[in-house]
Amino acid sequence: MTTLLNETHDPALTSWVESAQGSDFPIQNLPFSVFRRAGSDEEFRGGVAIGDQVIDMQALAAADILDDAAQEACEAAGEPILNMLMSMGKDANSALRLALSRALRTGSEQQAEVEKCLVAMAEVEYDLPCVIGDYTDFYTSIHHATAVGSLFRPDNPLLPNYKWVPIGYHGRASTVDVSGQSFPRPVGQTKAPDAAEPSFGPCKRMDYELEMGIYIGEGNALGERVDIENAEDHVFGLCLFNDWSARDLQAWEYQPLGPFLAKNFASTVSPWIITTEALAPFRSAFTRPESDPQPLPYLTSDFNNENGSMDIQLECLIETEQMRNAGEAPAKLSESSFKHSYWTVAQMVAHHTVNGCAMQPGDLLGSGTQSGPEHEEAGSLLELSRGGKQAITLPNGEQRTFLNDGDSVIMRGYCERDGAVRIGFGEVVGTVLPALV
Ligand code: MN
Repeated sequence: MTTLLNETHDPALTSWVESAQGSDFPIQNLPFSVFRRAGSDEEFRGGVAIGDQVIDMQALAAADILDDAAQEACEAAGEPILNMLMSMGKDANSALRLALSRALRTGSEQQAEVEKCLVAMAEVEYDLPCVIGDYTDFYTSIHHATAVGSLFRPDNPLLPNYKWVPIGYHGRASTVDVSGQSFPRPVGQTKAPDAAEPSFGPCKRMDYELEMGIYIGEGNALGERVDIENAEDHVFGLCLFNDWSARDLQAWEYQPLGPFLAKNFASTVSPWIITTEALAPFRSAFTRPESDPQPLPYLTSDFNNENGSMDIQLECLIETEQMRNAGEAPAKLSESSFKHSYWTVAQMVAHHTVNGCAMQPGDLLGSGTQSGPEHEEAGSLLELSRGGKQAITLPNGEQRTFLNDGDSVIMRGYCERDGAVRIGFGEVVGTVLPALV
């Protein structure tokens, strides 16, 4: 694991941007987004977070103060979409991270130049960080798969392929939007178990899914597989991801081909992408219980065995309309960690491309709902309310089995470990509006 660490992870590093220390975005993080001043007609461009500031990467590129490899990546990072930066691959991105780390350190001679490129985070708005050509959603939490399976198929919860295949389906990229997304409650066909026929109307079991989003960096040509040994060379970074789900639509439509309208109306990403390099201190060995089948050879590598697990702490909160109107803080629904994932990021990429499926820079993979082993660690209301049978009581006395109109769901993430500086993912927020009439 130590081989993944370099001078940019040094816990002793501090930044001349004072707010960086102790924030989600210390100098050891350096995540990317696309932003502009809120309410302005400025062009969106790439930014890097440091404390409560955003470095305008277009302005930094124009200042032309970085060395060659980093300068080229900086120019790509200033574009209105980050697909070019993502396509440049690990080495270019690593060079940019090192240059930014050196420019932002306490005592840096580049402080005066970089200072001119800062925009206060409180004053910005975000766009999707890239063009997402394709979006695939996996199902990597065995705890979620078992809990949901037992609700949909009580006598057959975990299907026999689960421990062998990283299960996924091809989702809808056009409805992925950045944090702040609000959308009408979906409508569609549902069928109560005791009803003779389905009915059409607004979804009654509106849910969220607490997931990680994984952005592809360098792509692969059609017909060329990405071996698991190199799989992470093709990953740009991770974000928080809410895969909104209409459970009653899903229950009626999902067999035999999987989710369709239950999932294609909205999916929300956090604005900041945390690079895999920034996550290096928070990785650990990927292991399977000995009683479970070990992954097939094409899903196994030394690197993955030694570093495959990422300990990303996740939390999910709700802010109802009543809480918002009363000025009350959002209420926590659950906490979990990406470390519980049954399949790793490298395994998802290797499996996705094993028969030559082309991945493009900016493609998005959802990890699947990241529920932990305990009931309270569930990453969806479907699980927390035990299929809608057990209402959750919020601190203000309101009750929920599923989401009401006006409810906002907030997801946050962070990594911390002894000997490393804590880094955060910021948050992703989305709101359910009344159904269209
Ligand atoms: Mn999902």
